[in-house]
Amino acid sequence: MPDIIQLLPDSIANQIAAGEVVQRPASAVKELIENSIDAGSTQIKLILKEAGKTLLQIIDNGKGMSETDARMSLERHATSKIRKAEDLFTLRTMGFRGEALASIAAVSQMEMKTRRVEDELGTLLVVEGSDVKRQEPVVCEKGTSVCVKNLFYNIPARRNFLKSNASEYQHILDEFQRLALSHPEIAFQLIETDTIEYDLPPAKLSQRIVGIFGKAYQEQLAPCHEDTQLIKITGYVGRPHSAKKKRGEQFLFVNKRFVRNNYLNHAVMSAFEGLLPDGNFPFYVLFIEIDPKHVDVNVHPTKTEIKFDDERAVYAVVLSAVRQSIGAHNLTPAIDFSADVNIISKLTNASSQSKEVYFEERFSSSLNRSNLENWEKMFDDEEKIVSPTSRPLDPPLQTLRFESSLNQGEDIHEEKVCFQLHNKYIVKQVKSGMMIVDQQAAHERILFEKFIQQLKNRSAQSQQSLFPQTITFHAADFALVMEMQQEIEALGFRIEIFGKNTILVNGVPGNISSPNERDLFEGLIEQFKINQSELSVPLGENLARALAKRASIKTGQVLMREEMKALIDQLFVCTSPNYSPDGRTTFFIFDMSKIESYFNRP
Ligand code: ADP
Ligand code: MG
Repeated sequence: MPDIIQLLPDSIANQIAAGEVVQRPASAVKELIENSIDAGSTQIKLILKEAGKTLLQIIDNGKGMSETDARMSLERHATSKIRKAEDLFTLRTMGFRGEALASIAAVSQMEMKTRRVEDELGTLLVVEGSDVKRQEPVVCEKGTSVCVKNLFYNIPARRNFLKSNASEYQHILDEFQRLALSHPEIAFQLIETDTIEYDLPPAKLSQRIVGIFGKAYQEQLAPCHEDTQLIKITGYVGRPHSAKKKRGEQFLFVNKRFVRNNYLNHAVMSAFEGLLPDGNFPFYVLFIEIDPKHVDVNVHPTKTEIKFDDERAVYAVVLSAVRQSIGAHNLTPAIDFSADVNIISKLTNASSQSKEVYFEERFSSSLNRSNLENWEKMFDDEEKIVSPTSRPLDPPLQTLRFESSLNQGEDIHEEKVCFQLHNKYIVKQVKSGMMIVDQQAAHERILFEKFIQQLKNRSAQSQQSLFPQTITFHAADFALVMEMQQEIEALGFRIEIFGKNTILVNGVPGNISSPNERDLFEGLIEQFKINQSELSVPLGENLARALAKRASIKTGQVLMREEMKALIDQLFVCTSPNYSPDGRTTFFIFDMSKIESYFNRP
């Protein structure tokens, strides 16, 4: 038998390697912008068509390349950034693998123009699937422009694997924001299909944050600084009351490189402990500077994971820095509730609206169990005051169907004690013993089934907003909303387009009352995206899940007796009352015999 092993041609080897570096347009954008940053650019422009699928172009004013370097840059493992193994440990550039350009060139039609300041003419290279089609001198600006057309044109399987434009654009936006945040001194522009989405001048970090996330962030930022022998921390954290039910606005950079690190994220979250309502996330943009020899960035080709040699020390510094920055700005006024008698009279005299405002502020800035209990004691029956967010449930349904989950003959209507345990569980007597219902999980189940039904029958009622609100989205989210408009309306929202990337919310589902329609709608879209990345369910079901999660009664919410009753009644007309849509147990029954066993009955 003849020998059968052969070396792969370069173009195929490059295609295979490309799979690791370039998964989607966003990864090409990241690599190319990083190159521009490494080239010392002060202006970087990103141009997109169809979320980068048909075209993505990066234009910079950096140092450019010579004719030979331009050609060389397309070779695999060709880099100007490291020369020897030791250089890996003193790395200060974003790139170092010398794989990006080779990979992108292997899976696209690429056009590169580049000129160094000292050269009169630049170089034009036209490449198709690693094949250099043209190379010639060209008149061009100083710097480099890389234009990538039809990414994955030669790998249909990959191309088909790309998600909707909205979703691919979101990925690009994520990368763009991270890079723009980590280099506020560089001007960035993002142009998507002829519209300028971002135009960020060189700025200080705080201004860059506002430029990206909007003016509302101006008031919310608390500076964070710490300088130790091991690391230096700079950046901003969002004040606790500005925290959102939104993951994804947490940015950690190590030596200017965006990284994901659950451990350090935990350090930040711990600093906020007790200050945030359940399920809210603080905003932060934190930069860690550390001697590169204490880090290993080479863990993963996409380089967002990172290892420190002394992770615990870094954790401790981050925790203390964030704590300090929160404390230093008086975000947690430590009021001794039991001592401040004036508060009570102030409150009882205030109008009910300002009471609510007062409570919202108080709660969001220092939500802490014992305070809460103090309030409860003070106000005794004034339940309305202690629960500014409590909302009425639907009236209980008349007909009850019993499903598997309850023992035969169980009567959940029995008028016996029913009380709330730690504002989290509802405890109720049932025939076989004691039932404990998780209020949030149960309500999610109830709403979920209701929404599914409404989607099926297109039967949702809508309640007209008294003061319709406008919401402006990023282009990607706006596209997503438009894609789902029918389903969103089937749930009871009424929306209309109201200018660029903006909608007007005229009506919200009739069966839920949310304190804030905008929060509810934004939350719905945010949750939808989280779900989308975590599970694959049909669009309608995802929406129903997302809305159920966002609109449900939350742990920590005080419920009135009728609300508890209604909740239990509604739970047991559900088709699957035992679990919340995401599989959490909704209720559980403590058997009498079990209880009795605790008391050593014979
Ligand atoms: P790496 O960035 O890991 O070195 P790349 O494949 O991304 O690998 O780039 C290869 C080389 O091409 C770089 O080391 C750099 O010398 C050069 N290069 C790439 N992009 C640019 C640019 N925008 N401006 C100047 N030089 C560039
Ligand atoms: Mg690179």
